[in-house]
Amino acid sequence: MRFAAALLMAASFGVMSVAMAQVPDTVEGHVLAAQQAAGLNFAGTLSVLCIQPEDGSDPGAATRAANAGKPRAIPARETWYAEPAKVFDNVYFVGTKIHNAWAIKTSEGIILLDTMYNYAAETEIIGGLKKLGLDPATIKYVIVSHGHGDHDEGAKMLQDRYGARVIMGAPDWDMIAKAGNMAGGVPKRDIVATDGQKVTLGDTTVTILLTPGHTLGTLSFLFPVKDNGKTLHVAYSGGMGFNFDRSPQRFDTYIASAKKFGDAAKASGASIIFSNHSMYDQAWIRSRWQRKPGEASPFVVGTDGVARYATVLSECAKAAKLRLKKS
Ligand SMILES: [Zn+2]
Repeated sequence: MRFAAALLMAASFGVMSVAMAQVPDTVEGHVLAAQQAAGLNFAGTLSVLCIQPEDGSDPGAATRAANAGKPRAIPARETWYAEPAKVFDNVYFVGTKIHNAWAIKTSEGIILLDTMYNYAAETEIIGGLKKLGLDPATIKYVIVSHGHGDHDEGAKMLQDRYGARVIMGAPDWDMIAKAGNMAGGVPKRDIVATDGQKVTLGDTTVTILLTPGHTLGTLSFLFPVKDNGKTLHVAYSGGMGFNFDRSPQRFDTYIASAKKFGDAAKASGASIIFSNHSMYDQAWIRSRWQRKPGEASPFVVGTDGVARYATVLSECAKAAKLRLKKS
C-alpha cells in the first residue's frame, strides 16, 4: 500500500510516467496504471472495470441471478430515447442514451454494428435511419459484437424484415441458441465470424477481430470512416464488463484480447474508439456535439488515446484477476 501511495504521489507530480515504468504486479499498481491511461477520455471505462469489490466478487451477480428468467421491465422512453445523428460523412449513430448502434453507409447499402434491446431497435434503428434520410431496407450486414440482449435483440427483426445477413462469433451463436428465447426472437444462425474476416460492402470494409473475454464470442472491429472527406480509422471495442464466470483463465483470455485489440488498432492507425455503451465511449454526448468549422471530431482521441483505452481494459483485468486470489 505504501508503495502504491508513493507511486500515486510521484505520478501526480508528473515525476514519472507509468507507461514507461514497470507496473508493480499488485492490485494497486494495475489500478494506478489504468487510471493513468484512462485520463478524462475513458473515466467511464475505468470506473466500471477498475472500481470492483476487493474480494474479487462480481457486484452484479446477485441482481442477475434474481432476475434470471423474469421478463425484463421496459424502461420509460424518456430515459433512453436519443435522436439519431450523423457523426462522420458515412457513419451514423442510431443508438440510445445508453446503448450504441452504428450505421456505416457504403456504396452498396448499410453495415449495421449492434442492434440493442428489442424495445429500442424499431424506434432507434428503423426510425432513426428514416429520420436521417437512409433506407433501413438497404441494411445488408448486421454485425453483433456479442450475444447479450443489449446488443443482439434487434437482429432477428432486421434478418426477417430486410433479409440482412447477421454475423456473430461461434460461441455466442451457440449461447443464444441454447438460451432459446429472447425479446425480439432468436435470429437464425447465419454467418460465423472468423478472425481477420473482412466484411466488404461496396466501397467499405469492416475487419473483424475475435476478442473473447466479456463473452467467449465477443467481436471487435476495425474500419475506415470519412470525416469531411479525410479518411480516419475506428477501432470498435466489442465487450468490456467482467460480468462473466470469474476465473484466472477467463481474465487471461480477456487480457490477451485487450492486447490483441490494442495491437491491431495501432497497426490500423486508429485514432477513434467506438464501443457499444455510451459509458465506455460517450457516444451519445459526443454525437450531440456541434462542431465549429475546422474543429476535429469529438470522437477522435488520437492513436495514443486508442492505445490508452486498450491499456485500461488490460490493467483493470489484471487488477481483477489478482483480487480473485484474495477471496
Ligand atoms: Zn455484454
